[in-house]
Amino acid sequence: MKTKSTEHVIDFGPRKIAYRLHRGDRRRLRIVVYPDLSVDVFAPRTATDSNIHEAVKKKAPWIARSIDDLESYHPLPAPKRYVSGETLVYLGRQYRLKVENGNREPAKLRGRFLCVRTEKKTDIKSVKRAVDEWYRMRAIEILGRYTERCYVVASRHGIPEPVITVRSMRSRWGSCSPAGRITLNLKLMQLPVQCIEYVIMHELCHLKHPNHSRQFYSFLTRCLPDWKKRKETLDRVRLS
Ligand SMILES: [Zn+2]
Repeated sequence: MKTKSTEHVIDFGPRKIAYRLHRGDRRRLRIVVYPDLSVDVFAPRTATDSNIHEAVKKKAPWIARSIDDLESYHPLPAPKRYVSGETLVYLGRQYRLKVENGNREPAKLRGRFLCVRTEKKTDIKSVKRAVDEWYRMRAIEILGRYTERCYVVASRHGIPEPVITVRSMRSRWGSCSPAGRITLNLKLMQLPVQCIEYVIMHELCHLKHPNHSRQFYSFLTRCLPDWKKRKETLDRVRLS
């Protein structure tokens, strides 16, 4: 059936959020924020305008946060000099490096800063080692956590439990071997989590379809229905 779409605006504090409303044969309201910062609302044909308006208003904090996250996301190169003030990117957000002299200890995230304490803060190698080590520890935890989550979905379709390896790769976000080993790029830690999930699910789906056939993509869609939107964000990042 044909869906009809109309343009609307809601107020959220001082800001205005515009959205396109599509009515159709569906039971629930669904809101999608796209990487181009546009917002679509899909609503049941039977819902009244004021019902929809109220529902969207309730979701306004989430919509605003999603827009802000996408807007603030500019892929940046890794620090080059490893000095205080340099920007680094972690899970799609920017942080500043803060380097202090003192007894060496593992790097820590504090607010919007990644704090590194080392015996000699002008020792680039030592600072770099602390930063790299921090990314690696976070990668093991976060990539492990998201792989588990994705696996909960993929395992319903008979996917074997993968063995995960994390390492820095030059040209790929992830890869998988016929034996069921998935390798994830350490640089994924710079990406928003929705991209990380996409890469992991993509590789998990290859354990069933080791190619990019139509069957692979329809299986991916079953496991991760909004993968295209996530891929669009990922495609804006250049792996260097
Ligand atoms: Zn692939």
